[in-house]
Amino acid sequence: MVEIHQIPVLADNYIYLIHEPASKTTAAVDPALAGPVLAALNEQTWTLTHILNTHHHGDHVGGNLELKARTGCVIVGPRAERDRIPGIDVAVAEGDHFSLGEATAHIFDVPGHTRGHIAYWFPESDSLFCGDTLFAMGCGRLFEGTPEQMWRSLGKLRVLPSSTRVYCAHEYTQANGRFAVTVEPDNQTLRERMAKVDELRRRGFPTVPSKMGDELATNPFLRPESPAIRRSLGLMGANDAEVFGEIRRQKDRF
Ligand SMILES: [Zn+2]
Repeated sequence: MVEIHQIPVLADNYIYLIHEPASKTTAAVDPALAGPVLAALNEQTWTLTHILNTHHHGDHVGGNLELKARTGCVIVGPRAERDRIPGIDVAVAEGDHFSLGEATAHIFDVPGHTRGHIAYWFPESDSLFCGDTLFAMGCGRLFEGTPEQMWRSLGKLRVLPSSTRVYCAHEYTQANGRFAVTVEPDNQTLRERMAKVDELRRRGFPTVPSKMGDELATNPFLRPESPAIRRSLGLMGANDAEVFGEIRRQKDRF
């Protein structure tokens, strides 16, 4: 089992430290900045051995080179974006495994937000690091991919155990939920979750990680087969990718 430490940075980013105690190895997931990572490592008395990047955006790789210079850590990132990941040492893709000491991550290719976006799933720790692909009650914008691609990518994640903790890279939950209730206004589970999220945010607490089971029940981007969603969009006969694409388009304009 790994220990996970959450570091809020910038307006709404999360960096995660994953610590495997048996080997004393520690990875930083998507370090936007170096300073807050170094401070957290110092506070935890952990030594950085790895960086795990999910995709090339600056608010996910901005701390790579400084952290590598200061700690000599190994940088792991998506093979399809290896020319855009600063300091990358190890390029991984779907089907590969990454070992952090005794903890093993399975790699998924999840293109859509960017062309080469990957996700790291640690099954023994029930934890998924999915960057900007799946958010609590939302999903990433399609900067470099099509709705069909993103729907296929989300399909790889939504079949993981419902107990999976979803460590996404942004605190977007409240805004996502406000949109979700417009798509599926009669989803009582969604309304109850939204009330809890509002309360957490009022008190300044994170709403991330969430549980995959809660995402399946409330995240409209994982629910295109829902008859209520299809009715509200007027897309009863469409396929799941088409419904997903329409939800994404509406969110972009929300
Ligand atoms: Zn991004």
